[in-house]
Amino acid sequence: MTTQNLNRTLEELDLKYIWHPCSQMKDYETFPPIVVKNAKGVKLYDIHGNEYIDIVSSWWANLLGHCNEEINSAIKAQLDNLEHVIFANFSHEPAIRLAESLSKIVPSRLKKFHFNDNGSAAIECALKMCFQFYLQTGKPQKQRFMCLTEGYHGETIGALSVGAVDLYTKIYEPMMMKTFPITAPDCYRCPYGKTRENCSCECFEAAEKVFAEHADECAGIIVEPILQGSAGMRIYPPLYLKKLRKICDDYDVKLIADEIATGFGRTGKMFACDSAEISPDVMCLSKGLTGGYMPMSITCVSQEIYDAFYADYNEGKAFLHSHTYAGNPLGCAAGLAVQKILREKNILSQAAENAKFLTGEMKNIFENHKNVGEIRHVGLIHAIEFVEEKNKKISFDSKKRIGYEIYKRAIKHGLLLRPLGDVIYFNPPLTITREELSAALTKAKKAVNEILPPF
Ligand SMILES: *Cc1c(COP(=O)(O)O)cnc(C)c1O
Repeated sequence: MTTQNLNRTLEELDLKYIWHPCSQMKDYETFPPIVVKNAKGVKLYDIHGNEYIDIVSSWWANLLGHCNEEINSAIKAQLDNLEHVIFANFSHEPAIRLAESLSKIVPSRLKKFHFNDNGSAAIECALKMCFQFYLQTGKPQKQRFMCLTEGYHGETIGALSVGAVDLYTKIYEPMMMKTFPITAPDCYRCPYGKTRENCSCECFEAAEKVFAEHADECAGIIVEPILQGSAGMRIYPPLYLKKLRKICDDYDVKLIADEIATGFGRTGKMFACDSAEISPDVMCLSKGLTGGYMPMSITCVSQEIYDAFYADYNEGKAFLHSHTYAGNPLGCAAGLAVQKILREKNILSQAAENAKFLTGEMKNIFENHKNVGEIRHVGLIHAIEFVEEKNKKISFDSKKRIGYEIYKRAIKHGLLLRPLGDVIYFNPPLTITREELSAALTKAKKAVNEILPPF
């Protein structure tokens, strides 16, 4: 069989057997899956020899480039010692060292680290912990959760319940628990007519109202700090988080920060909460935690929460939540390597320099495009929202699938630019170079202008 035939067979076999995530599989008949053979740094190479700049960090996870030599060797070394072990009553050095290392960088209230194997599981844990905390500290009426509209926290039923992106939640509503959504900040279409520069988070009054009405029955509020990723990379000011910290303390409600997407330098600070100088009571980490190598997550909690579970066994206060692969040593080895690189290689300040460069270049190229509604950015994350009418900020009909059309065109030009509705974004590895950013911008410009003429 020639290589080309073999390759064709792989794509056919994929369609024959695999049900891909977050996809309408019928789309794959006209736009077949890209079978990736290998990757290095920001580049993916498919079986036909085509290359793609992975400007979305393979679903925001790949933090320091693909096939990073240090992370690769850490995992290889760990593999020959211990691949996995039960994490109840047993432990291992990589997990211990990783927890120790995280304890030095996480916000101040967070003292204990509960390991899981994916982001949604970390969210489920956070919700269950807060619920059980109040049950065991004399406030059993605190059973519900507040969340922000447009929030995204994963796809399991509990995580969906606190999420509010209709696209993912609507169908499953009958299965979900009742929550109290708070209208999220919307800085591009600010209902108060403010701009990012002159606002004092007037929109926080929506939170005040929901707290006043429902805080008594709520164990927690969960938010994506600073950046509502799946909502279309919506960015809101640190002041909002400051106000949230205060109101949570006032009403005795736990603040859960979902830093699964924002953690480890994505927003310019180590954690998005750092930009507001606040500490949540619970923080969920995944994605960049292992550099995007291994499925792993950690729910970090305050001493106060931990202490409410600490008792004689027969009091029945333990947190009986486990996942088979919790604390997987290969994931922890990857996580440790990531921490070492972040500490030793000045990654955040280098990324900050490149972020400035990217902001300038992206504005140069796209600001005057007739369909560019807003260019927003935090850290290296840069997003462009396309609209049908720029002056009135009117969106395209979603049936036109503008983002998806740009995505398909970008793939042709060698750029993996997965959209969120009509928002396209860069969320590259923190190690990306200026040359690579420029190359990605050139490809993005071509793709955008072919789908939406600039004038
Ligand atoms: C990805 C993501 C999750 C879910 O993590 P999974 O590992 O995909 O379950 C939750 N919250 C945020 C903010 C995310 O970006």
